[in-house]
This record gives sequence, C-alpha cells and structure tokens, in this order.
Amino acid sequence: MSIGSEQRKTRAAQKFPPGIAYIDGRFRPISEARISVLDWGLLRSDATYDVVHVWQRRFFRLDAHLDRFLASVAKLRLSLPFDRATLAETLKECVRRSGLDDAYVEMICTRGFSPDFSRDPRAAVNRFIAFAIPFGWIADAEQRRRGLHLAIAEVRRIPPQSVDPRVKNYHWLDLVTGLFEAYDRGAENVLLCDLEGNVTEGAGFNLFAVSAGRVTTPSSGVLEGITRATVLELCAELGVPAETGTVSAEALTAADEVFVTSTAGGIMPVARIDGAAIGDGAPGRLTGKLTELYWAKHDDPAWTTPVD
Ligand code: PLP
Repeated sequence: MSIGSEQRKTRAAQKFPPGIAYIDGRFRPISEARISVLDWGLLRSDATYDVVHVWQRRFFRLDAHLDRFLASVAKLRLSLPFDRATLAETLKECVRRSGLDDAYVEMICTRGFSPDFSRDPRAAVNRFIAFAIPFGWIADAEQRRRGLHLAIAEVRRIPPQSVDPRVKNYHWLDLVTGLFEAYDRGAENVLLCDLEGNVTEGAGFNLFAVSAGRVTTPSSGVLEGITRATVLELCAELGVPAETGTVSAEALTAADEVFVTSTAGGIMPVARIDGAAIGDGAPGRLTGKLTELYWAKHDDPAWTTPVD
C-alpha cells in the first residue's frame, strides 16, 4: 500500500542523535530503542523519569538524581527491575558504550501494561528504560552570552494538587502550550504562573530572581530541581542570602537579575521578560559568578562520579 510504503520511507529517513539505550534488558543503538504502543507511559503519561548529565566523563550529582528518581518511582507505586547500584551501573554502561564525553542521561520507569490490557494499573508490568545522548542546552551559546528572552504565558501550570510537580513527569501540555504562546510573541522560552498568578517554572527549568542582593526561587508548584538545590548551596558557599518563597510576576520583572536552572545547561541568564529588560538588559554579575562556580564544581569529587 502506498501510505504504508511512504511511512516506511519517512521512518528510514528519520535521523537520530548518536547514543545508546537500555531497554527490555538490552543495550541498543538509540535508533533501535522502541516501546510498545500499549505502554501506559505513552497512552496516559503514566511514568516518571530523571535526567542527570555527564560532563567530561563525570556524572554531576548522580546520587541526588538517583534519590529523586527512586522517590518518584515509589510515590507513583512503580517498581524497578533492580536495585540502586545496578541502576547506577546501567546508566554508566549507557555512557561508556555511547563513547560520549558530555552526555544527557535519562532514566525512565513507565507503567507498562498487562497481558490482557487490564485497566487496573496494579496489573501492569512496569518497564525501565535508560539512554545516553549528547549533552543538550536549554539556551544556545548566543542566548547564554546575551541572556534569554522569555514570555510569561497565559496558560497556567498544572496545580500541584492535581499532579505533584516534585515527581518528575511527562505532563507537559501546559509547558508546550506555553512554549507556542511564547514563540508567537517573539520570545525564546516560557515561564508559567500558578492559579494565583505567581511564577512557578518553565519548560524544563527552574527560575531565580535576584533583588537587592537576595536570591529567591519559587517554593511550591515546581519540580525541586537538582540544579536549583545546587544554586542554593552555591549561594551559601558564597555567603549570598538565598531562599525559596513566592515570586510574583511583577517582582520578577522588577528584579535586578533573573536566571534559570536545569541539568540541560546549568545556570542560564535571562535578559528580557515579555519584551522588558531585566536590570540593564545584560546577564547579571551574580548570575555570572554562580555560573562560573557551578561549572568549576564539575571536577570536584564531592559532587561528581567518574564514568569509568
Ligand atoms: N522544572 C521542570 C519542569 C523540569 O522538567 C526540569 C528539568 O528537566 C527542571 C525544572 C530542572 O530540574 P533539574 O535542575 O533537576 O534538571
């Protein structure tokens, strides 16, 4: 049939990044890692995941990512096929086999499905997947140099009473809807507010405001990012007052400096929100200092784990 052959041609032409996945008990090239269309992870976003990065062949804060992932797996009443040590070894083996020096390493546990496709989630056989692909950035090199342009979306973040954002999840339609809103308004990425109008987080990152020397990041309605926790620790090391709290949209746009944080890029400056300059419109001094310290920690044995 012509539709089928067209689809096969499109599939054959689909390019993949280099990388290695572990799925159904085997390591495979990333292009060959596939899940069943019946998996509730796909059909219902019934899954949790975590992402840790490898920089110059060292994992950054692997233990913190494993703690968060294992807590999320437990909260969703999922189970993994092996223990923490084997999980860590599986991630390392993905990176080793990929040959990548700098990698984005994702671990996933999906609900899976049961042989009779029961609607009872307790009957499902959970699935574990991991993969290592090249390191990727939320902000490209130019955006990191001059600061990101963000928009605050009309669409609101899913309330934490409905889906717990501390369990890292694929309920991303609010964030993706917001991204398109931001692109339509000429911005490069998006921030979402909660139902009260306070800012929460963006599409894959937490947010920080610096006002009169004090650093604040939203306390609730957000994923408790490992980079966010790292920034709070770096502030303590530098003797800079930092706290979690409420950040209104007005306070954010009036801040002296704004930056976002993610495993996918670390600490990244924000230059404009809804078209208005933050501070003098250039990346802030404290943002720069924290960014430097953050990357310097990437060969500190206290926070890193060698791949080999
Ligand atoms: N918030 C959301 C919604 C995310 O998806 C992410 C990371 O993917 C973050 C925040 C940042 O978390 P971390 O610093 O652990 O990467």
